[in-house]
Amino acid sequence: MGLKELEKKARKLFKEGRVKLDFESGKRVYFSVYSREIHSVIFDKEKNEFKCDCKYFSVKQKECSHIKACKLLLKNLEKKEQ
Ligand SMILES: [Zn+2]
Repeated sequence: MGLKELEKKARKLFKEGRVKLDFESGKRVYFSVYSREIHSVIFDKEKNEFKCDCKYFSVKQKECSHIKACKLLLKNLEKKEQ
C-alpha cells in the first residue's frame, strides 16, 4: 500500500468515527481503531512514539493507517480545546 492510500484510509477511518480514545494515563494514550478488525494503538508520551498491533506495523515498523487515524483524532481534539 502506498503512502497516499494509507492517508486516504486513515482519513476515512477518522471521518467515519472509527477511532476511539479509550484511556489516557500520565505516560500513555490508548486508542481502539474499528477497522475490519479492532486494533489497539498506544501512544507513548515519553518516547513520542505510536505503536499498533496490526500486521503492517509489526512487519514494516512504519506508521499504519490506524496510527495515522489516531493522529488525526488527536489533532482534532487539540483544536477543540483551543
Ligand atoms: Zn495498525
